Amino acid sequence: MKEPPCKKCRRAGQKLFLKGERCFTPKCAMVKKPYVPGMHGRKRRRALSEYGSQLAEKQKLKIIYGITEKQLRKYFKEAAKSRGVATDVLLVKLETRIDNIIFRLGLAESRAKARQIVGHGHVLLNDRKIDIPSIRVEKGDIIKIKKSSLNKGLFKNLDIRLKKFNPPVWLSLDKENWRGNILALPSKEDIESPVDLQMIVEYYSR
Ligand code: SF4
Repeated sequence: MKEPPCKKCRRAGQKLFLKGERCFTPKCAMVKKPYVPGMHGRKRRRALSEYGSQLAEKQKLKIIYGITEKQLRKYFKEAAKSRGVATDVLLVKLETRIDNIIFRLGLAESRAKARQIVGHGHVLLNDRKIDIPSIRVEKGDIIKIKKSSLNKGLFKNLDIRLKKFNPPVWLSLDKENWRGNILALPSKEDIESPVDLQMIVEYYSR
């Protein structure tokens, strides 16, 4: 059975921001029950070995971006082969997935919703319909929500949410038309990573 998002945060011992606005309110389970789920959850956490810490960081990254082990391993291999710094390249690979872009543009409250929006074919990338959440965007790409999708439940209250939303500096958003533009590829300074990417690179480099 799939574990509910808040339990994943409690197990990880940190907010992973999987549920949109709720994560910033006192209703957040990491505020109300900041301990591991289960009978012995209130006991102090055991200190992890170096390997255990690396593994935990990797698991968190997979949960945050909603990707599989196979996908993350592939991204790492590509990052390790590239000329750039592996951690930076890995971050760009994750951030430029179309599902993440929909989330970063504020068009979805969470990455899970963004994946749903893409998977159900509500998104146009450079005017072409797409339905694969792992598709990567490039600088200059234009992302739009399909006109015929605008009245779907997935976009309920989006107008209101977007009024107070500002995308990161490497993206631009036309709030009236639910359209975004990739101004630049993100750099590590643009993204506050909640995980230690170096530890993940070390995990895969073993
Ligand atoms: Fe995690 Fe958000 Fe749930 Fe808090 S509300 S536990 S940050 S998913």
